[in-house]
Amino acid sequence: MDIQSSLKKLPSVEKVLEDARIAPRITLLSRKGVTRIVREAIERRRRTLLEGSKARVSGNDIMASVADDVASELDALSISGTRRVINATGVVLHTNLGRAVLGESVRAAIDSAARGYVDLEIDLASGKRTERGLRVGRLLSLLTGAEDAFVVNNNAAAVLLAVQTIAGSGAVAVSRGELVEIGGSFRLPEILALAAGRVIEVGTTNRTHRKDYEKAVRDGATLLLKVHTSNYRIVGYTNEVSLGELAEVGRAAGVPVMHDQGSGVLYPLRGVGIEGEECLETTLESGVDIMSFSTDKVLGGPQGGALVGSAPLIARMKENHLSRALRPDKLALAGLEQTLRDYWNGSFERIPSLRMIMEPADRLREKAAGLAGRIAARGVPDLDVKIVESESSIGGGSFPINPLRTVVVQITLPAGRAERLAALVRGGSPSVLVRVKDHSVMIDPRTILSDEEDELIATLVDGLERILRRE
Ligand SMILES: *Cc1c(COP(=O)(O)O)cnc(C)c1O
Repeated sequence: MDIQSSLKKLPSVEKVLEDARIAPRITLLSRKGVTRIVREAIERRRRTLLEGSKARVSGNDIMASVADDVASELDALSISGTRRVINATGVVLHTNLGRAVLGESVRAAIDSAARGYVDLEIDLASGKRTERGLRVGRLLSLLTGAEDAFVVNNNAAAVLLAVQTIAGSGAVAVSRGELVEIGGSFRLPEILALAAGRVIEVGTTNRTHRKDYEKAVRDGATLLLKVHTSNYRIVGYTNEVSLGELAEVGRAAGVPVMHDQGSGVLYPLRGVGIEGEECLETTLESGVDIMSFSTDKVLGGPQGGALVGSAPLIARMKENHLSRALRPDKLALAGLEQTLRDYWNGSFERIPSLRMIMEPADRLREKAAGLAGRIAARGVPDLDVKIVESESSIGGGSFPINPLRTVVVQITLPAGRAERLAALVRGGSPSVLVRVKDHSVMIDPRTILSDEEDELIATLVDGLERILRRE
């Protein structure tokens, strides 16, 4: 059977639109879209016929396969495509998985703001118009010890706004050792090039000295920027200028100093033995004028970028028209305000990411033992399940070289099966993400929420049965 006569059997767009599975799903606003999907499906079928085998295909087969194709895309479009993921990787702030998980109090605040109207930009006592984000700014100032604070859409936006405001028609100086790329395509050199009149690179990749910044000031720097190189570290023959020293250089020259801190450590984690990053208040005490950080990393709130520090500089940023393009919406502000209120009230246990970061090893061991026991109880034959010590990471580019000690469930499988199991459970509903190491799948209880355990066990055991049965 030749290709030409197969091509003649391709159905018309109208015919597919009349198919019993397609026609009832055409709505007021979807007709044009459905027509396009049908046209694309016919075109795909045409191409496979042209490339294709000489196998005999009937007109009915072609029609059915086009309609199948269209129906499956319509299914995907009409139900939510955002899939829930059980994160068994132990990476607390996984940028690809949406970073911080929000607790009940924050979800309730977001829901309440979503449901109706809120006092976003109105002072209800006087009835007068106000700025948005005032309560968030006040809480951030009080919690970090800053004079004032301001929130935009994310930390990349915060850096853009601050640098544009202070060095838009001047120059920003930054160490060559800090021109970083951070997960999620944040490339500092690109952002600075967009924001500043001129970028003055100081020092070298491994060594930057005080005199390099002093020279940058003589060369016209109007802002000295220090970036937290959060996801890597330069070791060996190195030198960097501390924030305190940089603040001195800035003060002596009358040039503002900014620190892109990144992770937003409000709670003094160092005090609970998690080394690597100072908390925001301590960092601000070094004398920097402005600090920026994400609100959805270690801070544990919804997506946002915070700027804290000098009141006159913050005022200039608020007046910058760019801030209008970067403003957060009522949902993010309501969620962030509640997150900050939970910090203020000392209700740290309400903040899931903070709870996960601080989860003690003995509690993790208990949880791992519980999970292992439940997996064993399902009676999958010849299963090698152990509880072993391992490391989790905070993620989001924070504390990179300070992994957290954890205890995981390790399931060791015959060669090649661990990847297959990982792929299988990743395709589950909800999806389950695990770590694979050598011939083992690792389940880290740190990032598994307590109400996810039943689903996790069900998906995992189902996957194990399929993997081990198929010899
Ligand atoms: C994460 C990070 C950013 C980017 O923040 P987003 O909130 O993802 O836009 C910028 N700078 C540093 C130092 C960071 O750690």
